[in-house]
Amino acid sequence: MAVVAGRSDAPGAPLNVPPTFASTYRDGESGLYGRWDNPTWRAFETALGALEGGRAVAFSCGQAAATAMLSTVPDGGTVVHPVDSYLGTRGLLRALADSGRLQARAVDVTDTAQAVHAVSGADLVWLESPTNPSLGIADLPEVIAAARRAGARAVVDNTFATPLCQQPLSWGAAAVVHSATKYIGGHSDLLLGVVVTGDEQLHETLLAHRSSQGAIPGTMEAFLALRGLRTLPVRFARQQETAGGLAVRLSGHRAVSAVRYPGLPTDPFHARARAQMSGFGAMVSFEVATAAHADRLVSALELVVPTTSLGGVESSIERRGRWPGEAHVAPGLLRMSVGLEHVDDVWADLAHALGVMTSG
Ligand SMILES: *Cc1c(COP(=O)(O)O)cnc(C)c1O
Repeated sequence: MAVVAGRSDAPGAPLNVPPTFASTYRDGESGLYGRWDNPTWRAFETALGALEGGRAVAFSCGQAAATAMLSTVPDGGTVVHPVDSYLGTRGLLRALADSGRLQARAVDVTDTAQAVHAVSGADLVWLESPTNPSLGIADLPEVIAAARRAGARAVVDNTFATPLCQQPLSWGAAAVVHSATKYIGGHSDLLLGVVVTGDEQLHETLLAHRSSQGAIPGTMEAFLALRGLRTLPVRFARQQETAGGLAVRLSGHRAVSAVRYPGLPTDPFHARARAQMSGFGAMVSFEVATAAHADRLVSALELVVPTTSLGGVESSIERRGRWPGEAHVAPGLLRMSVGLEHVDDVWADLAHALGVMTSG
């Protein structure tokens, strides 16, 4: 589906929908103006919508997609969100709460009883699983069902899992949000966001929001993101396999005090991940003794790139505690995005850096 969805089957049509550089269109049936529609956006939306099982609306970036979803919360309404979650989402919610636009309530979504209790009275329940950066797993089917019973819209940021591991719309989520900047684009060369929904009215609302607020994707970005999507299944399969191998090797290293990867049989969320996901993702977090140890490790790496963001073909790493707002994570926690290099090469780099770290 990732390979074929969104192509035109008209005889003579280009195999790939090309980037359409147009600010406006001749009067006719569709199109009209470049802020309202673009054939390249549509091709990308058709493909991702097919993978998630809904209709997609592409935005300029993940934050714009989140902003569009949050715009559906009534004034003074309540949003429940995970303590451990994307920093940008939490920052956005904080800003909206500080300005009095809405109320934000943080919960540990991996604690099902706490999450189920928290959804009562909420208008929107924002979920992330695996969580970021601790890679905990929320019982998504259970929490989404509780949100629905409470009359709240459940929204899942599916950036880390991708539709290949889980399709939250099938559990009753009102919408799925993606930063396509990450695995979907997959090459660290674009920013793009998406909301996918099965709700016709919400789809219309999101389109209207995009047209009026102007958070539209560039046609080149949509083209590149679709090109990335075509290879997502093979990239992600390889990245997950390497992540699993690295998680095992890290667990066996004496300078690593904890490894968080839901694919590890010893991980506290392994059983839950197995039950609801068809893969464990390609993010691995692990802890070393102190922030100084973590910084020493990062500077000794030669192959793995020290950088924020994730989901590219290159392995990258960062100490999350370096960001204000990540006070809840251990100071020595490192989050790694596993790329497409050979597992032995990544491990050799990590093992060498761990050695430098301990001897420093
Ligand atoms: C990066 C990211 C976002 C924000 O997306 P942008 O494309 O950077 O705006 C949202 N959620 C998660 C999980 C992310 O990793």
